[in-house]
Amino acid sequence: MSNQCDYCFKNCSNKLKLCSKCLKCGYCSKECQKFAWQSHKFLCSSSVEILNVKTNDSRNSSNSMKGLFARKSFQVGDIILKEKPLMAVPYADMEHIDQQIETSFNQLSQASKKAVYDLCDTTLSIRTKNNIDSTTITQTQITPNLFQIEDNNNDVDQDIIDDNINPNIKTLRGILKSNSIPQGNASSVVIEGKHELVLPTACLYSLSCRANHSCNNNAIFTWRNDLQKELLIAMRNIQKGDEITVSYDGVCGERDYRRQRLQDNFNFDCNCILCVNNDQKIEEGLELIANLKYQINFTQSGMDTKAANDDNDNDNDIDKSREECEDEDELAKKMRTDLCISMGEKALATAIEINMNTPMHLQHLHETLALLYYKTGMEEQAIKQYQQFTLFKDICYGNSV
Ligand SMILES: [Zn+2]
Ligand SMILES: [Zn+2]
Ligand SMILES: [Zn+2]
Repeated sequence: MSNQCDYCFKNCSNKLKLCSKCLKCGYCSKECQKFAWQSHKFLCSSSVEILNVKTNDSRNSSNSMKGLFARKSFQVGDIILKEKPLMAVPYADMEHIDQQIETSFNQLSQASKKAVYDLCDTTLSIRTKNNIDSTTITQTQITPNLFQIEDNNNDVDQDIIDDNINPNIKTLRGILKSNSIPQGNASSVVIEGKHELVLPTACLYSLSCRANHSCNNNAIFTWRNDLQKELLIAMRNIQKGDEITVSYDGVCGERDYRRQRLQDNFNFDCNCILCVNNDQKIEEGLELIANLKYQINFTQSGMDTKAANDDNDNDNDIDKSREECEDEDELAKKMRTDLCISMGEKALATAIEINMNTPMHLQHLHETLALLYYKTGMEEQAIKQYQQFTLFKDICYGNSV
Protein backbone atom coordinates (compact mmCIF):
# COMPACT_ATOMS: atom_id res chain seq x y z
CA MET A 1 0.00 0.00 0.00
CA SER A 2 1.30 3.42 -0.91
CA ASN A 3 2.21 5.94 1.75
CA GLN A 4 0.86 8.86 -0.22
CA CYS A 5 -1.78 11.05 1.39
CA ASP A 6 -4.96 11.02 -0.70
CA TYR A 7 -5.48 14.74 -0.14
CA CYS A 8 -2.13 16.53 -0.33
CA PHE A 9 -0.28 13.74 -2.16
CA LYS A 10 2.66 14.09 0.23
CA ASN A 11 4.56 10.90 0.97
CA CYS A 12 4.10 10.17 4.60
CA SER A 13 6.65 8.46 6.81
CA ASN A 14 4.09 7.58 9.48
CA LYS A 15 1.18 5.26 9.01
CA LEU A 16 -1.67 6.96 7.08
CA LYS A 17 -4.95 7.62 8.88
CA LEU A 18 -7.52 5.57 7.00
CA CYS A 19 -11.06 6.73 6.35
CA SER A 20 -12.97 4.86 9.03
CA LYS A 21 -15.98 4.31 6.76
CA CYS A 22 -14.48 2.83 3.60
CA LEU A 23 -10.95 2.05 4.84
CA LYS A 24 -9.81 2.86 1.32
CA CYS A 25 -8.41 6.38 1.59
CA GLY A 26 -5.46 7.35 3.73
CA TYR A 27 -4.40 10.77 4.98
CA CYS A 28 -1.23 12.16 6.50
CA SER A 29 -3.05 14.32 9.03
CA LYS A 30 -6.42 14.99 10.64
CA GLU A 31 -6.53 18.28 8.66
CA CYS A 32 -6.09 16.54 5.32
CA GLN A 33 -8.79 14.06 6.25
CA LYS A 34 -11.12 16.90 7.23
CA PHE A 35 -10.62 18.80 3.97
CA ALA A 36 -10.76 15.66 1.87
CA TRP A 37 -14.11 14.70 3.40
CA GLN A 38 -15.86 17.62 1.60
CA SER A 39 -15.44 15.72 -1.66
CA HIS A 40 -14.68 12.23 -0.39
CA LYS A 41 -18.10 11.96 1.29
CA PHE A 42 -19.69 11.62 -2.16
CA LEU A 43 -17.38 8.79 -3.11
CA CYS A 44 -17.04 7.07 0.26
CA SER A 45 -20.47 5.44 0.23
CA SER A 46 -21.03 5.73 -3.51
CA SER A 47 -21.88 2.89 -5.85
CA VAL A 48 -19.04 4.03 -8.10
CA GLU A 49 -15.32 4.54 -7.67
CA ILE A 50 -12.60 6.37 -9.57
CA LEU A 51 -9.84 4.06 -10.77
CA ASN A 52 -7.07 4.10 -13.33
CA VAL A 53 -8.21 2.90 -16.74
CA LYS A 54 -6.30 -0.10 -18.01
CA THR A 55 -5.20 0.78 -21.49
CA ASN A 56 -3.32 -1.14 -24.18
CA ASP A 57 -2.65 2.09 -25.97
CA SER A 58 1.00 3.12 -25.64
CA ARG A 59 0.09 6.79 -26.16
CA ASN A 60 -1.99 6.73 -23.01
CA SER A 61 0.19 4.57 -20.79
CA SER A 62 2.37 7.47 -19.67
CA ASN A 63 -0.48 9.37 -18.06
CA SER A 64 -2.68 7.35 -15.80
CA MET A 65 -6.11 8.11 -17.19
CA LYS A 66 -8.84 7.82 -14.61
CA GLY A 67 -12.36 6.57 -15.11
CA LEU A 68 -15.57 5.78 -13.27
CA PHE A 69 -16.13 2.15 -12.28
CA ALA A 70 -19.16 0.32 -10.91
CA ARG A 71 -18.96 -0.93 -7.32
CA LYS A 72 -22.16 -2.93 -7.82
CA SER A 73 -24.19 -4.14 -10.78
CA PHE A 74 -26.84 -2.01 -12.49
CA GLN A 75 -29.81 -2.85 -14.70
CA VAL A 76 -30.95 -0.80 -17.70
CA GLY A 77 -32.68 2.35 -16.38
CA ASP A 78 -31.03 2.23 -12.94
CA ILE A 79 -29.70 5.50 -11.57
CA ILE A 80 -25.97 5.10 -11.06
CA LEU A 81 -25.35 8.56 -9.64
CA LYS A 82 -27.31 11.62 -8.59
CA GLU A 83 -25.08 14.64 -8.27
CA LYS A 84 -25.42 18.34 -7.51
CA PRO A 85 -23.18 20.58 -9.62
CA LEU A 86 -19.86 21.49 -8.05
CA MET A 87 -19.71 24.60 -10.23
CA ALA A 88 -22.22 26.01 -12.72
CA VAL A 89 -21.25 28.45 -15.45
CA PRO A 90 -24.22 30.14 -17.17
CA TYR A 91 -24.06 30.48 -20.92
CA ALA A 92 -21.93 33.41 -22.12
CA ASP A 93 -20.52 34.43 -25.49
CA MET A 94 -16.82 33.97 -26.17
CA GLU A 95 -16.05 37.56 -25.19
CA HIS A 96 -17.38 37.14 -21.68
CA ILE A 97 -16.82 33.47 -21.05
CA ASP A 98 -13.61 33.74 -19.02
CA GLN A 99 -15.12 36.42 -16.83
CA GLN A 100 -18.20 34.27 -16.33
CA ILE A 101 -16.11 31.22 -15.41
CA GLU A 102 -14.07 33.22 -12.94
CA THR A 103 -17.17 34.68 -11.29
CA SER A 104 -18.63 31.18 -10.84
CA PHE A 105 -15.33 29.84 -9.53
CA ASN A 106 -14.86 32.64 -7.01
CA GLN A 107 -18.21 31.87 -5.40
CA LEU A 108 -17.09 28.35 -4.48
CA SER A 109 -15.89 27.08 -1.13
CA GLN A 110 -12.20 26.19 -0.84
CA ALA A 111 -13.04 22.50 -0.94
CA SER A 112 -15.07 22.90 -4.15
CA LYS A 113 -12.25 24.92 -5.71
CA LYS A 114 -9.89 22.07 -4.94
CA ALA A 115 -12.33 19.56 -6.44
CA VAL A 116 -12.57 21.67 -9.62
CA TYR A 117 -8.79 21.87 -9.79
CA ASP A 118 -8.51 18.09 -9.49
CA LEU A 119 -10.41 17.61 -12.76
CA CYS A 120 -8.27 17.21 -15.86
CA ASP A 121 -7.42 19.85 -18.44
CA THR A 122 -7.05 18.09 -21.80
CA THR A 123 -6.17 21.36 -23.51
CA LEU A 124 -2.80 21.22 -21.73
CA SER A 125 -1.46 18.75 -24.27
CA ILE A 126 -2.46 20.98 -27.21
CA ARG A 127 -0.89 23.99 -25.57
CA THR A 128 2.29 22.02 -24.89
CA LYS A 129 2.31 20.61 -28.43
CA ASN A 130 1.99 24.06 -29.97
CA ASN A 131 4.67 25.43 -27.65
CA ILE A 132 2.48 28.20 -26.42
CA ASP A 133 4.24 29.96 -23.62
CA SER A 134 2.00 29.78 -20.59
CA THR A 135 2.43 33.52 -19.97
CA THR A 136 0.66 34.28 -23.27
CA ILE A 137 -2.47 32.48 -22.16
CA THR A 138 -5.12 34.99 -21.22
CA GLN A 139 -7.44 32.41 -19.69
CA THR A 140 -7.58 32.30 -15.93
CA GLN A 141 -4.84 30.00 -14.81
CA ILE A 142 -5.55 27.84 -11.88
CA THR A 143 -2.86 26.81 -9.48
CA PRO A 144 -3.15 25.42 -5.98
CA ASN A 145 -2.67 28.89 -4.48
CA LEU A 146 -6.17 29.73 -5.72
CA PHE A 147 -7.59 27.35 -3.17
CA GLN A 148 -4.77 27.25 -0.66
CA ILE A 149 -5.90 25.33 2.35
CA GLU A 150 -6.38 27.29 5.55
CA ASP A 151 -3.71 28.33 7.99
CA ASN A 152 -4.27 25.48 10.40
CA ASN A 153 -2.85 23.20 7.73
CA ASN A 154 0.32 25.06 6.89
CA ASP A 155 2.41 21.95 7.47
CA VAL A 156 1.54 21.04 3.90
CA ASP A 157 4.40 21.94 1.63
CA GLN A 158 2.98 23.97 -1.26
CA ASP A 159 5.81 23.00 -3.64
CA ILE A 160 5.03 19.36 -3.17
CA ILE A 161 1.40 19.98 -4.06
CA ASP A 162 2.49 21.71 -7.27
CA ASP A 163 4.90 18.99 -8.30
CA ASN A 164 2.62 16.12 -7.60
CA ILE A 165 -0.63 17.37 -9.01
CA ASN A 166 0.69 18.67 -12.29
CA PRO A 167 3.83 20.43 -13.38
CA ASN A 168 1.87 22.36 -16.01
CA ILE A 169 -0.67 25.05 -15.45
CA LYS A 170 -4.30 24.24 -15.91
CA THR A 171 -6.74 26.95 -16.86
CA LEU A 172 -10.32 27.23 -15.70
CA ARG A 173 -11.51 27.35 -19.30
CA GLY A 174 -9.44 24.24 -20.07
CA ILE A 175 -10.98 22.37 -17.15
CA LEU A 176 -14.46 23.49 -18.16
CA LYS A 177 -13.90 22.52 -21.80
CA SER A 178 -12.55 19.11 -20.81
CA ASN A 179 -15.21 18.23 -18.26
CA SER A 180 -18.37 20.27 -18.42
CA ILE A 181 -21.73 18.57 -18.74
CA PRO A 182 -24.55 20.71 -20.17
CA GLN A 183 -27.53 21.21 -17.88
CA GLY A 184 -30.26 19.94 -20.21
CA ASN A 185 -30.54 20.92 -23.86
CA ALA A 186 -29.91 24.04 -25.90
CA SER A 187 -32.96 26.23 -26.43
CA SER A 188 -33.85 28.96 -28.87
CA VAL A 189 -34.99 32.44 -27.82
CA VAL A 190 -35.99 35.47 -29.86
CA ILE A 191 -33.73 38.47 -29.25
CA GLU A 192 -34.61 41.64 -31.20
CA GLY A 193 -36.61 39.64 -33.71
CA LYS A 194 -33.82 37.14 -34.35
CA HIS A 195 -33.71 33.52 -33.23
CA GLU A 196 -30.69 32.94 -31.03
CA LEU A 197 -29.48 29.62 -29.77
CA VAL A 198 -28.96 29.62 -26.02
CA LEU A 199 -26.62 26.97 -24.77
CA PRO A 200 -27.41 25.45 -21.40
CA THR A 201 -25.45 26.18 -18.25
CA ALA A 202 -22.20 24.20 -18.18
CA CYS A 203 -21.69 22.22 -14.98
CA LEU A 204 -18.78 20.49 -13.31
CA TYR A 205 -19.18 17.52 -10.96
CA SER A 206 -16.64 15.68 -8.84
CA LEU A 207 -17.79 12.22 -9.89
CA SER A 208 -19.90 12.48 -13.05
CA CYS A 209 -17.12 14.34 -14.88
CA ARG A 210 -14.88 11.29 -14.43
CA ALA A 211 -16.98 9.20 -16.81
CA ASN A 212 -15.02 8.60 -20.01
CA HIS A 213 -16.38 8.44 -23.53
CA SER A 214 -17.12 5.24 -25.40
CA CYS A 215 -18.81 4.95 -28.80
CA ASN A 216 -20.46 1.92 -27.22
CA ASN A 217 -21.42 3.74 -24.00
CA ASN A 218 -23.34 1.97 -21.27
CA ALA A 219 -24.77 5.08 -19.55
CA ILE A 220 -26.20 8.53 -20.27
CA PHE A 221 -26.59 11.80 -18.41
CA THR A 222 -30.02 13.31 -17.77
CA TRP A 223 -30.45 16.69 -16.06
CA ARG A 224 -33.43 16.59 -13.73
CA ASN A 225 -34.78 20.07 -13.18
CA ASP A 226 -37.16 18.84 -10.46
CA LEU A 227 -34.23 17.50 -8.43
CA GLN A 228 -31.67 20.09 -9.55
CA LYS A 229 -29.32 17.17 -10.05
CA GLU A 230 -27.54 15.43 -12.89
CA LEU A 231 -28.44 11.76 -13.12
CA LEU A 232 -26.18 9.12 -14.60
CA ILE A 233 -28.42 6.35 -15.88
CA ALA A 234 -27.51 2.82 -16.98
CA MET A 235 -28.39 2.20 -20.63
CA ARG A 236 -27.19 -1.37 -20.57
CA ASN A 237 -26.79 -3.89 -17.80
CA ILE A 238 -23.53 -3.08 -16.03
CA GLN A 239 -21.54 -5.60 -13.99
CA LYS A 240 -19.67 -4.84 -10.79
CA GLY A 241 -16.17 -3.66 -11.79
CA ASP A 242 -17.17 -2.46 -15.29
CA GLU A 243 -16.10 0.98 -16.41
CA ILE A 244 -19.10 3.33 -16.75
CA THR A 245 -18.97 5.23 -20.03
CA VAL A 246 -21.04 7.91 -21.73
CA SER A 247 -21.16 9.33 -25.24
CA TYR A 248 -19.53 12.78 -25.37
CA ASP A 249 -21.54 14.20 -28.21
CA GLY A 250 -24.00 11.46 -29.00
CA VAL A 251 -21.74 10.47 -31.89
CA CYS A 252 -23.23 8.21 -34.43
CA GLY A 253 -21.92 7.25 -37.84
CA GLU A 254 -18.97 5.20 -39.02
CA ARG A 255 -15.62 4.86 -37.24
CA ASP A 256 -13.45 7.43 -39.05
CA TYR A 257 -16.12 10.11 -38.86
CA ARG A 258 -16.71 9.47 -35.15
CA ARG A 259 -13.02 9.47 -34.29
CA GLN A 260 -12.34 12.65 -36.25
CA ARG A 261 -15.21 14.42 -34.51
CA LEU A 262 -13.97 13.31 -31.08
CA GLN A 263 -10.44 14.41 -31.96
CA ASP A 264 -11.66 17.82 -33.18
CA ASN A 265 -14.05 18.51 -30.31
CA PHE A 266 -12.48 16.71 -27.38
CA ASN A 267 -8.87 16.25 -28.37
CA PHE A 268 -8.44 12.49 -27.96
CA ASP A 269 -8.17 9.39 -30.09
CA CYS A 270 -11.04 7.11 -29.23
CA ASN A 271 -9.86 3.62 -28.39
CA CYS A 272 -13.15 2.24 -27.24
CA ILE A 273 -14.05 -1.36 -27.96
CA LEU A 274 -15.97 -0.40 -31.12
CA CYS A 275 -13.15 1.74 -32.50
CA VAL A 276 -10.51 -0.90 -31.71
CA ASN A 277 -12.46 -3.88 -33.02
CA ASN A 278 -13.62 -2.06 -36.18
CA ASP A 279 -16.25 -4.73 -36.86
CA GLN A 280 -17.48 -4.19 -40.44
CA LYS A 281 -21.02 -5.30 -39.78
CA ILE A 282 -21.48 -3.00 -36.79
CA GLU A 283 -19.80 -0.07 -38.55
CA GLU A 284 -22.09 -0.47 -41.57
CA GLY A 285 -25.08 -0.64 -39.23
CA LEU A 286 -24.02 2.55 -37.46
CA GLU A 287 -23.51 4.35 -40.74
CA LEU A 288 -26.96 3.22 -41.86
CA ILE A 289 -28.63 4.41 -38.65
CA ALA A 290 -26.84 7.78 -38.82
CA ASN A 291 -27.86 8.27 -42.46
CA LEU A 292 -31.43 7.22 -41.91
CA LYS A 293 -31.81 9.37 -38.83
CA TYR A 294 -30.48 12.33 -40.79
CA GLN A 295 -32.78 11.65 -43.76
CA ILE A 296 -35.82 11.18 -41.55
CA ASN A 297 -35.15 14.38 -39.61
CA PHE A 298 -34.49 16.30 -42.81
CA THR A 299 -37.61 15.09 -44.61
CA GLN A 300 -39.72 15.49 -41.53
CA SER A 301 -38.61 19.06 -40.88
CA GLY A 302 -39.42 19.86 -44.52
CA MET A 303 -42.90 18.41 -44.06
CA ASP A 304 -43.51 20.32 -40.86
CA THR A 305 -42.48 23.65 -42.42
CA LYS A 306 -44.77 22.98 -45.36
CA ALA A 307 -47.67 22.13 -43.04
CA ALA A 308 -47.11 25.32 -41.04
CA ASN A 309 -47.07 27.40 -44.23
CA ASP A 310 -50.28 25.77 -45.44
CA ASP A 311 -52.04 26.75 -42.25
CA ASN A 312 -51.06 30.37 -42.71
CA ASP A 313 -52.32 30.92 -46.24
CA ASN A 314 -56.03 30.34 -45.87
CA ASP A 315 -56.91 34.03 -46.34
CA ASN A 316 -56.70 33.99 -50.17
CA ASP A 317 -59.21 32.50 -52.58
CA ILE A 318 -57.83 29.24 -53.87
CA ASP A 319 -57.82 29.16 -57.66
CA LYS A 320 -57.84 26.15 -59.93
CA SER A 321 -54.12 25.93 -60.59
CA ARG A 322 -53.38 26.18 -56.90
CA GLU A 323 -55.66 23.20 -56.26
CA GLU A 324 -53.80 21.12 -58.82
CA CYS A 325 -50.59 22.13 -57.19
CA GLU A 326 -51.88 20.98 -53.84
CA ASP A 327 -52.85 17.60 -55.26
CA GLU A 328 -49.29 17.20 -56.43
CA ASP A 329 -48.00 18.24 -53.04
CA GLU A 330 -50.30 15.72 -51.37
CA LEU A 331 -48.86 12.95 -53.53
CA ALA A 332 -45.29 14.07 -52.93
CA LYS A 333 -45.96 14.34 -49.23
CA LYS A 334 -47.40 10.84 -49.15
CA MET A 335 -44.43 9.43 -51.05
CA ARG A 336 -41.99 11.14 -48.70
CA THR A 337 -43.87 9.83 -45.68
CA ASP A 338 -43.94 6.28 -47.07
CA LEU A 339 -40.22 6.52 -47.76
CA CYS A 340 -39.60 7.76 -44.22
CA ILE A 341 -41.63 4.92 -42.75
CA SER A 342 -39.70 2.28 -44.63
CA MET A 343 -36.40 3.97 -43.69
CA GLY A 344 -37.47 4.20 -40.07
CA GLU A 345 -38.49 0.55 -39.95
CA LYS A 346 -35.16 -0.46 -41.44
CA ALA A 347 -33.23 1.72 -38.98
CA LEU A 348 -35.17 0.25 -36.09
CA ALA A 349 -34.43 -3.30 -37.20
CA THR A 350 -30.73 -2.45 -37.61
CA ALA A 351 -30.51 -0.75 -34.20
CA ILE A 352 -31.99 -3.84 -32.55
CA GLU A 353 -29.77 -6.17 -34.54
CA ILE A 354 -26.45 -4.53 -33.62
CA ASN A 355 -27.55 -3.59 -30.08
CA MET A 356 -25.88 -0.18 -30.39
CA ASN A 357 -26.60 2.36 -27.61
CA THR A 358 -29.93 0.70 -27.88
CA PRO A 359 -32.27 2.73 -25.65
CA MET A 360 -31.10 6.08 -27.06
CA HIS A 361 -31.53 5.06 -30.68
CA LEU A 362 -34.69 3.14 -30.08
CA GLN A 363 -36.33 6.01 -28.22
CA HIS A 364 -35.75 8.37 -31.13
CA LEU A 365 -36.72 5.84 -33.78
CA HIS A 366 -39.93 4.79 -32.04
CA GLU A 367 -40.91 8.44 -31.63
CA THR A 368 -40.28 9.22 -35.30
CA LEU A 369 -42.17 6.18 -36.48
CA ALA A 370 -45.13 6.94 -34.20
CA LEU A 371 -45.37 10.40 -35.70
CA LEU A 372 -45.11 9.15 -39.27
CA TYR A 373 -47.70 6.41 -38.77
CA TYR A 374 -50.02 8.95 -37.16
CA LYS A 375 -49.66 11.35 -40.09
CA THR A 376 -50.59 8.61 -42.54
CA GLY A 377 -53.64 7.59 -40.52
CA MET A 378 -52.12 4.29 -39.38
CA GLU A 379 -53.34 4.88 -35.86
CA GLU A 380 -52.92 1.39 -34.48
CA GLN A 381 -49.25 1.24 -35.47
CA ALA A 382 -48.77 4.78 -34.21
CA ILE A 383 -50.06 3.86 -30.75
CA LYS A 384 -47.83 0.78 -30.62
CA GLN A 385 -44.75 2.82 -31.48
CA TYR A 386 -45.72 5.54 -29.05
CA GLN A 387 -46.00 3.03 -26.21
CA GLN A 388 -42.52 1.79 -27.01
CA PHE A 389 -41.28 5.37 -27.14
CA THR A 390 -42.66 6.25 -23.70
CA LEU A 391 -41.16 3.07 -22.28
CA PHE A 392 -37.70 4.11 -23.45
CA LYS A 393 -38.31 7.71 -22.49
CA ASP A 394 -39.00 6.57 -18.94
CA ILE A 395 -35.82 4.52 -18.92
CA CYS A 396 -33.76 7.55 -19.96
CA TYR A 397 -35.45 9.57 -17.23
CA GLY A 398 -34.26 7.12 -14.57
CA ASN A 399 -35.99 4.42 -12.52
CA SER A 400 -37.00 4.82 -8.88
CA VAL A 401 -35.66 8.23 -7.85
ZN1 LIG B 1 -2.08 15.07 3.52
ZN1 LIG C 1 -14.14 6.81 2.92
ZN1 LIG D 1 -14.86 4.91 -30.09
